[in-house]
Amino acid sequence: MIDCTRSTAVSLLARLNSGEVTAESVTTAYLDRANRLDGQLHVFLHRDNERALAQARSVDAKRKAGEPLGLLAGIPIALKDVLCTIGEPTTCGSKMLENFKPPYDATVVSKLRAADAVIVGKTNMDEFAMGSSTENSAYGPTRNPWDTTRIPGGSSGGSAAAVAADFAPLALGSDTGGSIRQPAALCGIVGLKPTYGRVSRYGLIAFASSLDQIGPFTHDLADTALLMSVISGPDPRDATSVDIPVPDYLGTLDQPPKSLRIGLVREFFGEGLDPEVEASIREAIRVYEAAGATVSEVSLPHSKYGVAAYYLVAPAECSSNLARYDGTIFGHRSEDFAAKYPGEEDLPPLIRMMMASRAEGFGPEVKRRIMLGTFALSAGYADQYYTQALKVRRLIRNDFDEAFKSVDVLVGPTSPTPAFKLGERTADPLAMYLSDIYTITTNLAGIPGLSIPCGLTKSGLPIGMQLLAPAFAEENLLRTARVFEKATDWQTRRPPLA
Ligand code: GLN
Repeated sequence: MIDCTRSTAVSLLARLNSGEVTAESVTTAYLDRANRLDGQLHVFLHRDNERALAQARSVDAKRKAGEPLGLLAGIPIALKDVLCTIGEPTTCGSKMLENFKPPYDATVVSKLRAADAVIVGKTNMDEFAMGSSTENSAYGPTRNPWDTTRIPGGSSGGSAAAVAADFAPLALGSDTGGSIRQPAALCGIVGLKPTYGRVSRYGLIAFASSLDQIGPFTHDLADTALLMSVISGPDPRDATSVDIPVPDYLGTLDQPPKSLRIGLVREFFGEGLDPEVEASIREAIRVYEAAGATVSEVSLPHSKYGVAAYYLVAPAECSSNLARYDGTIFGHRSEDFAAKYPGEEDLPPLIRMMMASRAEGFGPEVKRRIMLGTFALSAGYADQYYTQALKVRRLIRNDFDEAFKSVDVLVGPTSPTPAFKLGERTADPLAMYLSDIYTITTNLAGIPGLSIPCGLTKSGLPIGMQLLAPAFAEENLLRTARVFEKATDWQTRRPPLA
């Protein structure tokens, strides 16, 4: 049998349509590869091979019968375990949801099923999407396919590694402060955080509701465009989704952008930027210049407050969103709370049950965020912290608005460093938080952000370039990135995974 696992979704669709391969043979090939290699990586938290194969066979039957097929007919896709899948485990990387089986599908999942995609499994992630390395998963870390002593990035590390390792040609993740773009960069693939409101979040387990977005992981931009067409659009079940027509992202991808004015963000080339990452971004800029782009330097003066503002806004929202996990309706319930909290027996049993359930169910980073957020919102402090952070957020948004008056797209590194070693930053939350220094402001402003592969370090680790555009300008963002993709071949590189 021919190995089709080094493909993209678009090229697989051509082979499926010509009858060269079947959905069953494609799915079998990807599942076999995952069976063989996932022991080294720990990409998947749950996999149901039989269910995936049954789905693939039903797509083949539809094709054979000449029934109309969806846009992703027979294409395997992996889903971050933050997305609800009906009747199947959805843990969010947490012990808190170890036994949770949602009674419904997320809207993006329904759309994938309607498009005849084949869901192959749920991928590992930092607990409740809080982290930059996937080491905060309650189920153990995922490893980077390019170097298994290193992290794949996070929080969607499992989804990024799934695509990088060719366990599926497509995956979905979520991005609250960089969780799609940073792991995409560190795993050498494409990751897009769409505009806030572009993709429905119904059925996405909430972390920080004013920042969270769902988006694709792929090997190249054609696949990103295709997957975006499937998942985008308004949804009556998500009041924050926006009713703006969904462009034909794939159909227009190869049209050159109307203008190619690129802004280099001065603040994204400062202290802490790895020299090899910087050199590779500068080289990418030369590629754009050779393609006729005008490149100018722009400033986002308030971006230096991005991490600080984010670590007030995101924890504040998380403390509220995670209040529902108290062991009553949602989440882990402590079995032996009666024995806990000696000296506090006068507290009602219900309260002690909730305290023990939360203490047992949440990991240390989640607890840190809940405490930070509760403090930032507390009476007497909210004005100094939370409200102040909202003002900074507005200034950050204004910086972007100003920059986009003179350029079409902003370009810089996605992550200040390539993939770091497992354990390297776990003892230092601040070092971990600084992994997102270039991605966080995008979420605060609500604009789309894309990471594409643009190089390898001397030791063979992927480097990602970030491109940012105004709200709902995904189409032009993809077309601008495509100019670089066409001129280079970084998207064809694969990790040396044996
Ligand atoms: N690393 C950031 C955090 O821990 C962003 C995570 C994300 O985008 N979900 O909050």
